[in-house]
Amino acid sequence: MRRIYLDHNATTPLVSPALDRFCRAAGEVWGNASSVHHFGQQAKAVLDGARASVAALLGAEPSEVVFTGGGTDADNAAVRGAAEALEPSGRRHLVVSSIEHEAVLQTAKALAKRGWRVTFLPVGASGVVDPDALTAALGDDTALVSVMHANNEIGTLQPIAELAALAKARGALFHTDAVQTAGKRAVDVRGLGVDLLSISAHKFGGPKGAGALWIRRGVRLLPFMTGGRQERGRRAGTENVPAIAGMGAAADYARETMTESAPRVAALRDRLERGILEGVPGTAVNGTGPRVPNTTNISVDRVESESLLIALDLEGVAVSSGSACSSGTLEPSHVLKAMGFPHHRTLNSLRFSLGSSNTEEEIDHVVSVLPALVNKLRGLTART
Ligand code: PLP
Repeated sequence: MRRIYLDHNATTPLVSPALDRFCRAAGEVWGNASSVHHFGQQAKAVLDGARASVAALLGAEPSEVVFTGGGTDADNAAVRGAAEALEPSGRRHLVVSSIEHEAVLQTAKALAKRGWRVTFLPVGASGVVDPDALTAALGDDTALVSVMHANNEIGTLQPIAELAALAKARGALFHTDAVQTAGKRAVDVRGLGVDLLSISAHKFGGPKGAGALWIRRGVRLLPFMTGGRQERGRRAGTENVPAIAGMGAAADYARETMTESAPRVAALRDRLERGILEGVPGTAVNGTGPRVPNTTNISVDRVESESLLIALDLEGVAVSSGSACSSGTLEPSHVLKAMGFPHHRTLNSLRFSLGSSNTEEEIDHVVSVLPALVNKLRGLTART
């Protein structure tokens, strides 16, 4: 069966330079990058090359890039690391947006259990954090603000530069989870004015199990994992050299192709969105703020997202839903809930996330099969 992949925010296929570099490093560069002998230095040289590539993608200095085991790892390193470093100063207040990825949300909740005061910033129906809400939340005890660059479910971009300036004026550090923007659109750490920024290789054509935390020079974190002195003492554990090599290649590829691919992917996304809104009655786009080029999140009235997701999969089309099925019942999307949507709308949304290999023909195929699937499911619901 023909398969159409529209779930690139979950993960992406490896781009071919990343696959080549990954395989070559896995076969030939098996030394431990901390070893002083030839084999170790060979591995270290691969890490240095990848570090320069990741730094170039972010407009950063290579020495500010710390490799991690992915986005979750980088988010934990940032939030826990800043909390550990600042706790003795008496700053024990953390501010996060209510639509963060679980990697940040659960970390914030863990700190709350440890006695930290945590403020969850609201978002409006547009899916964007209001800077005034941050101003109101900031206190003299705020240690860190963490607001994601783009949301993984709805794709909305946050006004990071403005939010970071507000936080820093009150002496707080600012972290942004840029897992859904890096490699899709320009990310410039200096322009954003942040202190810490997380990325993950498998979201932009690199392998799973590699990511990076950018730490602005001069920012002090305590490592959230104890162990060896890898990554200049900032992230313990032997580096995953093949995956990091692949991430470096994916970063170069993204930097070289983004100017051409981002508008093309945005045009495909807009074509898909238009086609669905026109072809399926009772549909609406969630998240009206500025968005990353590849994402649209659409609610389909009177249809449970999980049923539609499965129906599409049977047609060969892979998408995802914000809601999750646990113990046989649907859990609403925390993002749509935070946006103030009624309960039914938090359960009926589908996320379509495109990549540069998608084609107009694929999009037209999805637009053509969707109305009949929705009608069929609505018919079933009407009978029950
Ligand atoms: N942050 C965001 C916004 C994400 O979308 C994801 C992955 O879905 C992560 C963090 C976690 O990244 P990883 O899968 O590399 O741990």
